[in-house]
Amino acid sequence: LNENMGLIRHKKPLLILVNPKSGVGTALKIFQDLVGPILDEADVPYNMVLTTRSGYGQDLVVNEDLSRWGGIVIISGDGLLYEVVQGLFKRPDWAKVTKIPLSIIAGGSGNGLARTLAFESGDSYHNNGVLASAMSLVRRRYRFMDLLAVQSASGKNVYAFLSIGWGFMADCDIESETLRFMGEPRFVLWSLWRATVFRHYRGRLSYKRAHPKESQGSQTSPADEDSPVDPNWSAKEDYPSSNGAAVHMTPDFMLPPLSKPVPDDWTIMEEDFVMVYATNTAFIATLLQPAPQAKMDDGTIWLLIIKKGVSRLEMIRILRGVEQGTHTDFPSVQIVPVSAFRLEPLGKSGNIVVDGELIDYEPIQAQVLPSYFNIITK
Ligand code: ADP
Ligand code: MG
Repeated sequence: LNENMGLIRHKKPLLILVNPKSGVGTALKIFQDLVGPILDEADVPYNMVLTTRSGYGQDLVVNEDLSRWGGIVIISGDGLLYEVVQGLFKRPDWAKVTKIPLSIIAGGSGNGLARTLAFESGDSYHNNGVLASAMSLVRRRYRFMDLLAVQSASGKNVYAFLSIGWGFMADCDIESETLRFMGEPRFVLWSLWRATVFRHYRGRLSYKRAHPKESQGSQTSPADEDSPVDPNWSAKEDYPSSNGAAVHMTPDFMLPPLSKPVPDDWTIMEEDFVMVYATNTAFIATLLQPAPQAKMDDGTIWLLIIKKGVSRLEMIRILRGVEQGTHTDFPSVQIVPVSAFRLEPLGKSGNIVVDGELIDYEPIQAQVLPSYFNIITK
């Protein structure tokens, strides 16, 4: 296999995290039947770790000596990668460790990133693309992926690689958890039912318009094949720190604090919204493309905005269109490319979800961190 693929030897082993409880419980089988045998055949060293509980992945990467590993591979849904990403940013050496190559193999019920990677490589998504993903661990090419840094009013920062949602689709995300046993179609079924009773949310949405960058495609290697975690890293200058020499400087400081007004060149909308969904990738689940034109490294956050006034019938058609990315022509749908936005809910109740995970209901703002992660891909 090595010879056929013209391979370089990978000295550092891959750290493979498998969530045996994700989706319909197939992640371990994917490892045993496919990923493990392919890596063994190609002499790619690895260590497999089964997660035992929610939070395990985050705790592991917070405490692990990550310089030992050539990359972190997730066999699960997007939720386990989300945990790992949060864990990387909790470390004092976050700027260094967030450059470690990351990979995802679709083993969950929400596989937005795996679907996006197959889509951007021009691959079919046969069998969730697990074979192509496993092979990419041998061949090891990389793509940059933008990240969304999210700040909330109470000071909790999180990092999203897929999406930030509020209103209709966020509510569906949370409520449809009860239909988990069905696998991914749960979301669409639930949302169609829910479209018969949808609410409006008063809020202020502010954003800075952006021009999407050309996608760079895949690269043969990150900075250094065997030490992607740069040992010489020192504080980055791209993100000037507002509080001087903070030990744990996170990359959020380009935005004014949430207590201050947004800059003059931002657009501000105060409206009744049905939903606002901000996305980074073309797919946020196998059958959900809120912003079909998004590229994972276009330096852009795509806002899908639907205001009050949309009829039930149009809403149902829009939701069906989101499956195929054909909703963008509906008159009630606005899609705006931005580099940062602020969302201030003006009512008491609602849901804000980041990569499908619920966060506290309060004002938030987000900015894109362009080409931030190294993702292993075809
Ligand atoms: P899915 O797409 O099926 O939801 P995810 O990867 O998103 O799969 O995982 C769902 C959740 O399961 C994540 O929030 C993760 O923290 C949690 N989790 C990880 N390992 C375990 C485990 N061993 N048992 C229960 N929950 C787990
Ligand atoms: Mg993007």
